[in-house]
Amino acid sequence: MDAAARLRYLQAMDIDVWVARHPPGVCGRLPSDDFADADGRQPVTTLADADVSGLAYPQTSALPVNPSPDAEAADERLELGQAEDADHDGCASTQELRGPGPENAAEAWQSLQHSVAVCRACALCETRTQTVFGVGNKQATWMLIGEAPGQNEDLQGEPFVGKAGQLLNEMLKAIGLQREQVYIANMLKCRPPNNRDPQAEEVAACHDFLQRQIQLLQPKILLAVGRIAAQNLLDTQQPLSRLRGKQYRLGDLPLVVVHHPAYLLRSPLEKAKAWEDLQFAWSVYQSL
Ligand code: URA
Repeated sequence: MDAAARLRYLQAMDIDVWVARHPPGVCGRLPSDDFADADGRQPVTTLADADVSGLAYPQTSALPVNPSPDAEAADERLELGQAEDADHDGCASTQELRGPGPENAAEAWQSLQHSVAVCRACALCETRTQTVFGVGNKQATWMLIGEAPGQNEDLQGEPFVGKAGQLLNEMLKAIGLQREQVYIANMLKCRPPNNRDPQAEEVAACHDFLQRQIQLLQPKILLAVGRIAAQNLLDTQQPLSRLRGKQYRLGDLPLVVVHHPAYLLRSPLEKAKAWEDLQFAWSVYQSL
């Protein structure tokens, strides 16, 4: 993406101050107290450690997607020196360990989506218009995890489609990603009435659905979008100001916390910090 296009996206995020505050490609620093550890969670790297000086933005033609499952499995077999996925001695085959192949992957996604659509595991099924499964590229290397559907999402059946969704799209574009290149899901698949915070039992009821989405997608990086998603995914009560700017691990995947676009709509002055979050996420992705 050229500098002018990036500037346009940043301006769409109201970050016209960004150009004056930092030389191009140089990431701002957070106050040092932002680097304290979250309860029980050791960040792997922080914004302070990250080498963001040479930030290179992807061209839109260079889509950051995972190779198709069959190609990837073949590469892995080569690395492992295995000719085929034979089931020796009753052990699980490589294919089973890695998840389904391409045709089975499509079936697995369909089956998961159906399970979500008919789910009645918590009381939110009584008030939802429909479930909101997730959307995006099934070969995406970036997976964004929000909190729960709002009114627009409940009506349209797709995450992040309201004003916050439009800002999220601009935020993605600012780091060279199109919405269609990433995968977007929420912790909860049903809208809590009046957009109240998710309750613990609702998060627990939806937990396996999200885990299965991560397992099927096999992204390279997870972005927790907003405080509620971050606190639940990282099992901490730390405020977002202390969670952002650090790299965590969820299972074996790197996870970075970013500001929620709905919060940015309410607090536009925080958009510069959101830009720092995105640059940090990009630097983590580049270091993988
Ligand atoms: N906020 C979220 O966290 N998710 C959505 O899908 C919409 C708004």
